[in-house]
Amino acid sequence: TLFSELGLLEPIQKALTEANYETPTPIQAQAIPHLLEGRDLIGIAQTGTGKTAAFSLPILHRLFAGAEKRHPVPRRCRVLILSPTRELAAQILESIETYGKHLKPTTALVMGGVSANRQIKALQRGVDVLVATPGRLADLMAQNAVNIDRVEMFVLDEADRMLDMGFLPEIRRIVAHLPKERQSLFFSATMPKPIADLANTLLKDPVQVAV
Ligand code: AMP
Repeated sequence: TLFSELGLLEPIQKALTEANYETPTPIQAQAIPHLLEGRDLIGIAQTGTGKTAAFSLPILHRLFAGAEKRHPVPRRCRVLILSPTRELAAQILESIETYGKHLKPTTALVMGGVSANRQIKALQRGVDVLVATPGRLADLMAQNAVNIDRVEMFVLDEADRMLDMGFLPEIRRIVAHLPKERQSLFFSATMPKPIADLANTLLKDPVQVAV
């Protein structure tokens, strides 16, 4: 398979060509067609397998493939990506900006360790894609600074590290505010029982991809 055979929007294909990506990695080739159809997904994959592009490319496609041009609604986000660490969250945002450079989604990064004020201001302008660590997102939700009740696509990345870091209570609180109608993607390098149980509560009829 080549990227050009996956049917991604032309501005995404152009960004991939500019980044010298020709061939999808195994997780990309297996996951992207299902994700473009709107299926839920459970991906068993480590960092370095290309999993960030495996979810970012179809998310960008589905954000912009709608006929009408939608404007971000203040304090609402259409895509929520949860990451266990600040470093990984920043990398995910950078990937989305690279692959989306010709589509220019509105993005925000919400994570601990830096002032919340700038993050709140960015959210007030409205975002298409919010990348967040669970602790700070739960804080901002408690302050009504962010609204996730219109999320169309939800990604939980590195679920096993979330568990190790003690984030399961925050994740449960966050997920309780997501709309029931949504596309959910779940990635983990390993699948211990608590992670498999969490996946079962978040996903509907998921496609499973293991690389
Ligand atoms: P990830 O596992 O998503 O963190 O990706 C690992 C690295 O591989 C990142 O630096 C990506 O830029 C790069 N990468 C991902 N997919 C591809 C691809 N299909 N072709 C070339 N490089 C890629």
